[in-house]
Amino acid sequence: MTGLCDVRATGGCLCGGVRYEVRGPLRDVVVCHCSRCRRTHGHAAAYAACRWDDLVLGEAAPLRWYVDGDRRRGFCVRCGASLLWRAPDRDTVSVAAGTLDPPTGLETVAHIFVADRGDYEPPPGEGECFSAGLPPGWPAPSRG
Ligand SMILES: [Zn+2]
Ligand SMILES: [Zn+2]
Repeated sequence: MTGLCDVRATGGCLCGGVRYEVRGPLRDVVVCHCSRCRRTHGHAAAYAACRWDDLVLGEAAPLRWYVDGDRRRGFCVRCGASLLWRAPDRDTVSVAAGTLDPPTGLETVAHIFVADRGDYEPPPGEGECFSAGLPPGWPAPSRG
């Protein structure tokens, strides 16, 4: 955890136990309204994303992975914050946008699993809407 490299962003959990750096481009924010994200985050989940290799966790970070089928959700064992989402077949990792230190320089560009959103949720605002996941090849702009 030094400032020597080209750190694009930093972030962490509520208690500060988990800190991370992103040393590469960050994708703009996609909000997932699926029931799994809702039950993890307590609401729809806003995620940026970066290459897995570009994510550097602080030393001795109290991060554990909750395995949900073939997906993994990284959380802080101390404060319970949900920070990361990972699918093993992808070389990227989703980073909970609310855990990034501001200013993020990001925008919300899409909403996914809109058809599954909570019945209390208003229709999504800004960004493209998809009833299920992101279509393959959907342009995922990165901000370097
Ligand atoms: Zn924590
Ligand atoms: Zn989701």
